[in-house]
Amino acid sequence: MIPATWRRSVVAVVGLGKSGVAATRLLAREGVPVYASDAAERPDGGDALAALRALPGVEVELGRHDLAKIRGAAAVVVSPGVPPDAPPLAAAREARVPVVSEIEIGFAALEGARCIAITGTNGKTTTTALVAHVLEAAGVRAAAVGNIGRPLADIAVAGDRYDWLAVEVSSFQLHDSPHFAPDVGVLTNLAPDHLDRYPSVAAYYDDKRLLFHNATAQSVWVLNADDAAVLALAQGASGRRVGFSLTRRADGWYDGTAQLLKLGDAPLLPRRELKLLGDHNVANALAAALAARAAGVAPEAVARGLGSFRALPHRLEPVREVGGVLWINDSKATNIASTSVAVAAMNRPFVLLLGGRHKGEPYTGLAPRLRERCRLVIVFGEAGPLVERDLAGVVPLERGTTFEDVVARARRAARPGDVVLLSPACSSYDMFRNYEERGATFRHLVESL
Ligand code: ADP
Repeated sequence: MIPATWRRSVVAVVGLGKSGVAATRLLAREGVPVYASDAAERPDGGDALAALRALPGVEVELGRHDLAKIRGAAAVVVSPGVPPDAPPLAAAREARVPVVSEIEIGFAALEGARCIAITGTNGKTTTTALVAHVLEAAGVRAAAVGNIGRPLADIAVAGDRYDWLAVEVSSFQLHDSPHFAPDVGVLTNLAPDHLDRYPSVAAYYDDKRLLFHNATAQSVWVLNADDAAVLALAQGASGRRVGFSLTRRADGWYDGTAQLLKLGDAPLLPRRELKLLGDHNVANALAAALAARAAGVAPEAVARGLGSFRALPHRLEPVREVGGVLWINDSKATNIASTSVAVAAMNRPFVLLLGGRHKGEPYTGLAPRLRERCRLVIVFGEAGPLVERDLAGVVPLERGTTFEDVVARARRAARPGDVVLLSPACSSYDMFRNYEERGATFRHLVESL
């Protein structure tokens, strides 16, 4: 539970998004005085902030962090979005104040529920949603926790009863959750990432390895058997390992010849019944299937759950078919890797909408895949000229102006049987508030075609 020393001092909560708000409420309920702050004047926590101010022992400060208060705190609870080198965290470290995640305190206060932790470089959110959906569809009291769901601390505060929770955890959260001990852990894949926030790939992988930190003989680890780095990371961890593979027989695997997802030798689900595009999503589904099996769900129920799952918003999300043209919203794809995955998932000719605010990577990386089926690339936004330069001679190109113009051009260019794919490989901040707004605008325009 919450350390007794915290009640005699003050705990600082840094960042007041939904997880910071939940952490503050949990600490207040435990009788811990809280200093909660956010550098923004209007953080995401929104309306909930007024209610926080009314809680006894809670001080809320917006627009700045009082570093002296943070240095004097018994502990700091940090929100997932705060980078490790942010001034309040640097101040805490310098003053040797322990820094913990909201997951750490939420887990400590949680009663009854068992946890399936999902981490990895890509596919965390999708796999977390899949796991929660499969469990719920099987009649298990379950919920998704993290990015797409509720904060763990929120579930602890509400006292809601669940049998299982699917918890998405980033490497940063693992770093700050020394007592987090999931019953089942899923490692989707590993690739160099977050090098803006880590000194080296090794340091990033070291944090991912913390998934296995509190392993016991009863733990179950769901591992990507196609990823040598994943298998290496899990080496030596106590517990049982199960693997998934897109290429060869494993505990959960994709038999490409039979177009079947399988559990060992037993058929699980025909590929066409999984309503998600792309092999990467077959991998996510297999990972979720193994996690659900570890939680005791029967194979038939796993298959039913996978079959009734639909794409998450903005992630290769089919919006509508108009005149034989399928419009797909992949606005979440804000880098080359994500757009590559989306393009690889296209099995029909497609028109690609590419652009936004440039993030630094060259677009030439997309060229080999675009040569195969891409009818036209419509570039837009600040990155437009760069995309044109990088892809000139590879595919036909057009430059759009407004987003309405981009969609109108796509409509003119697409033939029946085609896909129009919004997978911009760029951030949205030149034209939109965020990728969600970009995706919602796309959906709106497509719905009014
Ligand atoms: P995360 O939460 O880890 O960011 P998401 O499920 O939100 O993952 O997916 C984000 C993007 O990552 C997707 O748009 C897709 O491009 C890519 N992706 C998803 N799953 C995988 C996977 N298993 N392997 C590789 N890339 C993936």
